[in-house]
Formats: sequence, structure tokens, C-alpha cells
Amino acid sequence: MLRSRTGPDTRDLRTVYVPAPPPPESVYDTLRSGETLAEVLDGHGFSPQQIYDLIEVVRQYKSPRRFRPGVVLQLTGPPDSPAERILLQLNEDSLLKLDARPEGWASDVATVPIMVDTLLLAGLIESSLWYADLSGQVDRLGEGEFQEYVFDLADVFAWKVDFTRDIRRGDAFRVAIERELRPDGTLRSRRFLGIELRNRGSVLSAIPFTRPAGQREYFDVDGEALKGVFLRYPVPYRITSGFSNRRYHPVLKRYRAHRGTDYGAPHGTQVKATAAGTITRAGTWGSYGRMVEIRHTRGIQTRYAHLSSIGAGIRVGARVDQGQAIGRVGSTGLSTGPHLHYEFLQNGAHRNPSTMNLPSAPALEEQYRAEFMAGRDAALDLLSVVALPVAPSDEIGPAVAD
Ligand SMILES: [Zn+2]
Repeated sequence: MLRSRTGPDTRDLRTVYVPAPPPPESVYDTLRSGETLAEVLDGHGFSPQQIYDLIEVVRQYKSPRRFRPGVVLQLTGPPDSPAERILLQLNEDSLLKLDARPEGWASDVATVPIMVDTLLLAGLIESSLWYADLSGQVDRLGEGEFQEYVFDLADVFAWKVDFTRDIRRGDAFRVAIERELRPDGTLRSRRFLGIELRNRGSVLSAIPFTRPAGQREYFDVDGEALKGVFLRYPVPYRITSGFSNRRYHPVLKRYRAHRGTDYGAPHGTQVKATAAGTITRAGTWGSYGRMVEIRHTRGIQTRYAHLSSIGAGIRVGARVDQGQAIGRVGSTGLSTGPHLHYEFLQNGAHRNPSTMNLPSAPALEEQYRAEFMAGRDAALDLLSVVALPVAPSDEIGPAVAD
């Protein structure tokens, strides 16, 4: 029998209100200086037992004491209750994942995937390496990445080119760089595969080669070392007063020889030993103020004056390596303002290092030549994909076909 319907038949229908679980929320926290991982966790509503358990799991991967300030934790869970998932940065390339399970915290390490690529860039210099018109794969450059290459490039040619003096408008470079990139586009590593630099009309090449168990070094196309026994300068700043036999002295207010080179570097800039040697003076010495003197091979000495401070361990008799920091720029002694006064002496006589032919490191040994040449040819092929830029005024018109 059919019943008349006066409304929807609700006998078999029930509306049950099931509250939807609130979406999990993520919060981020950072390990601050002087803080322990346990203290960070304590701020997120975990019980002392839970914190103890978490720390014990973390310990299986890395000692909790070895986490440095700045480490980021991501804590995810229902609102107003302790997190059920924690992501903890173990190091640059791995994340520790911790998940709350009835039986305890499950853990797993995720490695950030790395992509390797080759980047080709060329630049026409406007005034310094920092101001260049870039061409090539410029769109693939990350934020601040070009600046890194400028530093690297200046390092590679530091023995051949004085970037504080020798770079001219119209100079140019091209580089092939192998990069390792993280998914967020940040650079994990970078290395040059080859470089060409045109400086004042001549082209210098730099091809890397690593001797077995040795360090990566750069050679020219013939296998001659780019590295010199002496760095071109102790601070990467402009020369404000060069070597001269007659110069008006701003403090003494009279003419006298300036038997050194002044670099206008800011107070506190690190000063580097231009070559390996032994410290022969470290302290205050008359008009030099606070200074360091180093004895090198071939009867050469270098002096670094007007320092604000001398590095720890820099004392008479100590050995220093090329490029080692020996002190900081200041204005002690007879000086009008912060600058580095650098002297170069050979057999006791002052010399002008910027006009001297400074000795180079040894060329590549015969047994590595074949391997080097193969690498060199591959690098030059790669570089040939981008043109070494030419300033518009230097451009030669199209060749006339005959
Ligand atoms: Zn000086």
C-alpha cells in the first residue's frame, strides 16, 4: 500500500553532523643562539617525555648539540595540540622527517635533489668587473650569483691581472660554469670549466686541472701556471698612491719618496700575506704604526703598515701561507686615514711590485699534459658557444666576400 507523501520520506535518512577535522597547521621555529633543540620543542606544547623521545630519535642522525643557531624546524599538527609531524634541517642538503605514531616517532631523512647544469656567460666590461653588460644564459642566473663569479674570476687571475688597476672599459670575459642547483634555485656548488678574459687587448685563458691528490689549479692553454709566487695585491682595493721617488706627503707636508703602494681600503679590511714566508716583524715600528714584515724566498721582504690590528698567531718566527690573513687595515703611525701601506723589498732595496716580473708557479708536469689538453679542448669548445663581446667602437665591419 502506498502512503501519500506530504513531504520527503525521512525514515531512512539521517543527517549526521560530523565536524570536519580542522586542517593541520604548520608553524616554523628557529634555533636561536644559546638555545637547545629541547628548549625550542618545549615552546610547542610537548610533554617532557615527548621531548626526551624526540631528542633520542634526532640523536640517531646528529648530536643535538651540533645544531647551529639558525636551524629551522617546521611543526605541523592540529591547532592547539602538539605537532604530529616535524621537519628538521640536518644540514644544507637533508631534512629529518619525524612523524608521531602510536608506537613512537617514526623518522626518515629526505635528501634535497640536486640538478647539475652548465652555464655560459659573457660580459663586456663597462668600468670594473662588477659593471659588465652580460650576455649568454643570463636568464638562468640566480639572485646575487654573478657577484660570486666576479669574486671567483678575480681569484683565478689574481696573479696575472691587478683588478684594482688593469681593468679597462671594453675588456671582456666569457666563462663556462658547472653548477649544482637545489630545487629552490640556490647554488650548492660551482666551478669554472674554462674562462677567457680579454684585458688590454690580449686574451688570457684559464683551464682548471687537478693533479692526483692535489688541489684544483688553473693553467693557460699551454699548461703554464696562472698562479704566481706573489699575489698582485694584499687587499682588493684601489691604489690611492703608487710607488714613486717624489711625492707630496700629506702629513709631513713636504716632498719625499713613497717607496710603497697605498691601498684605500676601509678600516678593518683583512690584509693578506702576498706570498708564503716567515714573520720578521709584528708590532709597532715608528711611522709604520702597527705593522707586519714577512721574509720570503729570493731575498724578498714585504711590509704591511698602519694596521689597526695584527692577526692572532702572527708573531716573529711564525710561518704564513700565501693569502693568509695577517691583520686588518687601520690608520696607526704616520697616516691621515685608514689605508694599507704595502712595501716590497728585494735584497733590502724597495721595488715597485706592479712593474716587476713576478715569478710564476711551476708549469704542469709532462705526465699530465695529454689529460690536460683533452680537458682544455673540451672547455674551449664549450666557451666558443658564446662570443667574447667586443665594444661597439672596436667592431670591424662585415668582411666583404670576394
Ligand atoms: Zn704609503
